[in-house]
Amino acid sequence: MIDESKCVQCGHCIHACPFGAISSKSYLVDIIREIKAGKEVIAMCAPATEGQFGKDITMASIKAGLMEMGFSDMVEVGLGGDMTAAYESLEWAEALEEGRKMTTSCCPAFINMMRKQFPEQFEKNMSTTVSPMCAISRYLKATHPGCVTVFVGPCIAKKAESHDKSVPDNADYVMTYGEFRALLRSKDIELKPVDDSYQEASVWGKRFAASGGVANAVLECMKERGNDTEGITLKKCAGGDECKKTLLMLKTGRLEEDFVEGMMCPGGCVGGPSKHKTEVEITRAREALLSAADKREVIENLKQYPMDKFSMFRDGHM
Ligand code: SF4
Repeated sequence: MIDESKCVQCGHCIHACPFGAISSKSYLVDIIREIKAGKEVIAMCAPATEGQFGKDITMASIKAGLMEMGFSDMVEVGLGGDMTAAYESLEWAEALEEGRKMTTSCCPAFINMMRKQFPEQFEKNMSTTVSPMCAISRYLKATHPGCVTVFVGPCIAKKAESHDKSVPDNADYVMTYGEFRALLRSKDIELKPVDDSYQEASVWGKRFAASGGVANAVLECMKERGNDTEGITLKKCAGGDECKKTLLMLKTGRLEEDFVEGMMCPGGCVGGPSKHKTEVEITRAREALLSAADKREVIENLKQYPMDKFSMFRDGHM
């Protein structure tokens, strides 16, 4: 029997939960087992991580905490944001030429809503580029064969995404910030301020976490490639109601904008179900941290990475 009552996490009905709440079980024990078995277990921290634990806790602080827990390494998923934006920008440029509208594809809850409630638009208008989480997992699996990848972030829908067998080589496990904090407490580890010398992502990739960040990064990539972006119109929707209304407009041919950014949480991932503080507190701390990041360009940044060694498309084709 499916429980039709409202989910305490997000208020959505479990029967049609776009967050995939049915698969929101914790994998902490499995992750600890993999670490104890001596495997190379690599953490992948969501772009929403910066600011989540205050303005003094940098990505370098989080990395130190994860290494103390036994993880082999940590990679910033903002770098996956750069990868996703770079490939999605190629799709947007093509769609623009064909006069076809397109939606982003990095939020699994938005994908689930489209797949279940707007199947025709899912086939026709959804970008086929993988999410930043999947991009980093594939990059790690291509460069560290046999490694185990663990996404750490504010999202429970990512658990459903990691189970989607139609998307190969995605994260092996997903850990929410709540679970990350439980692990910190159980091991008596405290996150400490560390100078933020660590940066793998451009600011554009880092900004994937907030509403508008994905669409802006894709447009930035189009500009960096020399595409004319004058006159392109965007519909940035954050929150279930706004996403649904926009998809209905798309379905009925009444949507005016060229591209849709769909994020199921109000404010984007910074407002995700497992956020550690209020959205306002997180945003304030994030801005302080992000202002210290260098201003590298997305396409230039990706030249350091072997993008030809893994697929950036959902079905895994090269
Ligand atoms: S917007 Fe919410 S549901 Fe979507 S990826 Fe971010 S945290 Fe997850």
